[in-house]
Amino acid sequence: AQLARMISALAGADSLYPKLCKSAGHKYTHGHALILSGGPGRGGAARLAARAALRSGSGLVTVGCPPDAVPENAARLDAVMLCPLEDAQALAHTLEDTRINALCLGPGLGLGTREGALVAAALTAGRATVFDADALTLIAGDPALFAALHDRCVLTPHAGEFARLFPDLAERLHAPAVEGPAYSKLDAARDAAARSGCTVLIKGPDTVISTPDGRACINAAVGERAAPWLATAGSGDVLAGLVAGLLARGLPPFDAAQTAAYLHVEAAIAFGPGLIAEDLPEILPKVLQRLG
Ligand code: AMP
Ligand code: MG
Repeated sequence: AQLARMISALAGADSLYPKLCKSAGHKYTHGHALILSGGPGRGGAARLAARAALRSGSGLVTVGCPPDAVPENAARLDAVMLCPLEDAQALAHTLEDTRINALCLGPGLGLGTREGALVAAALTAGRATVFDADALTLIAGDPALFAALHDRCVLTPHAGEFARLFPDLAERLHAPAVEGPAYSKLDAARDAAARSGCTVLIKGPDTVISTPDGRACINAAVGERAAPWLATAGSGDVLAGLVAGLLARGLPPFDAAQTAAYLHVEAAIAFGPGLIAEDLPEILPKVLQRLG
């Protein structure tokens, strides 16, 4: 019963978005998300995240990328601003603009020394930040980065990324059941959130989200809401962009993660089979209109 109280029904997530829509204001009051991209030929994931962040209502979205990737991103993104970022120092300088209120790190980022330094600089800036993909791998390999995580961070691992970050929890999760209640994905999310001090969203057909203080929810894309076609290249990058966009709009990490997971599945259902990741941001307005 205690656990049940801690699990908020995800049905509530559809009430969070309309609240945002009622706020008046201009594009700066609707938030500014900065999404880091990899080098030439490796920017697709970040571009998917950027389109998702824009569609979720973030007033401004900037893609920060190595200078030689600017032409490629410019050719493929119109409403998104581009910011050449040579190194971590350039990122720190960019983040002196406090209107940039949310970051998305990981999709297509790369795993080199430069990228590790970018993640460190982003953590120092203390902004609401989504860590996905390569950023999760970098954090898993560097205890100093892991220790710098804070309560405005959202981690969005799939099962493999989760196992790299929290090998002992993943092992318990996959261990054969012994006597007593099995260690569940929900237990793992709650333990991971408590240990890292940030919101943890473990992806899959059943997406589980938890905060360090033990609040949790499950967003199951099963049963009536089954959308197995979401298991397609780039769909996780879209989810990371949705979280970043909603963080930029001012939702707290747990609310942003829940709402993004909800919208992600609803968009997939609205599109139907045959979906590719590019379709998700484009179908999102249909879902948002239904929410009012
Ligand atoms: P990634 O592995 O980073 O590309 O993310 C995959 C995305 O697809 C995540 O949002 C998962 O929750 C979602 N996903 C994966 N498998 C399924 C499935 N069978 N049904 C619904 N959603 C899924
Ligand atoms: Mg991914």
